[in-house]
Amino acid sequence: MTRTALTTLVLLFLLFTNLICANTLYNDGPYLFYKNNHIEQIDIRKNTKQVSKYVGPLTIPQTFSANKVDSYQDVEKIAAISDIHGQFDIFKTLLISNKVIDQQLNWSYGRGHLIITGDIFDRGDTVTEALWLIYKLEQQALAAGGKLHYLLGNHEYMVLRDEQRYLHPKYLHTVTLFNNDLRQQYSEQSILGRWLRSKSTIIKVNGFVFLHGGIHQEFIDLNLSLEQANAAFRKTIGLSKEEVKANSTWRSLHSSNGPIWYRGYFRDQDLVLAQVESILTKLNATQVIVGHTSMPTIETRFNGKVIAIDSSIKRGEKGELLLWENDKFSRGMLSGEQKPLQ
Ligand code: ZN
Repeated sequence: MTRTALTTLVLLFLLFTNLICANTLYNDGPYLFYKNNHIEQIDIRKNTKQVSKYVGPLTIPQTFSANKVDSYQDVEKIAAISDIHGQFDIFKTLLISNKVIDQQLNWSYGRGHLIITGDIFDRGDTVTEALWLIYKLEQQALAAGGKLHYLLGNHEYMVLRDEQRYLHPKYLHTVTLFNNDLRQQYSEQSILGRWLRSKSTIIKVNGFVFLHGGIHQEFIDLNLSLEQANAAFRKTIGLSKEEVKANSTWRSLHSSNGPIWYRGYFRDQDLVLAQVESILTKLNATQVIVGHTSMPTIETRFNGKVIAIDSSIKRGEKGELLLWENDKFSRGMLSGEQKPLQ
């Protein structure tokens, strides 16, 4: 083949793939917004915005209140998952297979607590579906005497301050329908936006600390209670990087050693067990359970003091759910099989 023929072939191929991309039509939504006397529903059907009046079935309160306390004791069973990153099918299947929800996607975990340690957003193309399922399950869990905790990860903070670089092409299209501003798509006048602004970032359940990244000594030195840290984090939702940097507490919370970004358990060669234990003692906790750093499976570090639950769901192939019951941790698989945590 001549060089010219080859170039033509490559150009034709590029043109063809571009046409396919340009012709992909997406559905997305619903996006709901508080209006004076009603809730407005925006759906994206084949890339086109449709506006209607919302008539159900979800319960939509006017306000979402933040937790008064962020520590829980005597919880009978716990399930935890992290870094779903727009992979709704894996998320849903893990919850069904491990009996946290039923086939109709309703809560079936009784008085148990389901903890999601952040990063629902970005990468994948079924973020909206995951958000509305979490929204619904949170209400059903409360009614059953259980609780769903959706903790915010770095990608929640990024999306809420309009960082678009990890958005799936589908959501890059959706945001153009909201003046190309994620702060408008998830504004305080949007139901999901108002709901997200009530969320915590760090909680403690049965002496296990749950959060997205991890706890570095720098966080301990801030001397904040979990409730104070969560309140400070909430104040930073939607702020630009510059606005966050203007306040020393906020700057520390959002730094690379801060709770939503820290990766030291897996990357810091100098970190030793005694330091991890000393931090846990200060938090009056026995273990810390984190996402953010992707692992092939749920794994432990530092003699089991650190449990890493980002099981690479973001790849869209597989994933695991951490389970705790009768004083024992196990790994819930997609098949429903439960393997001991090593
Ligand atoms: Zn993360």
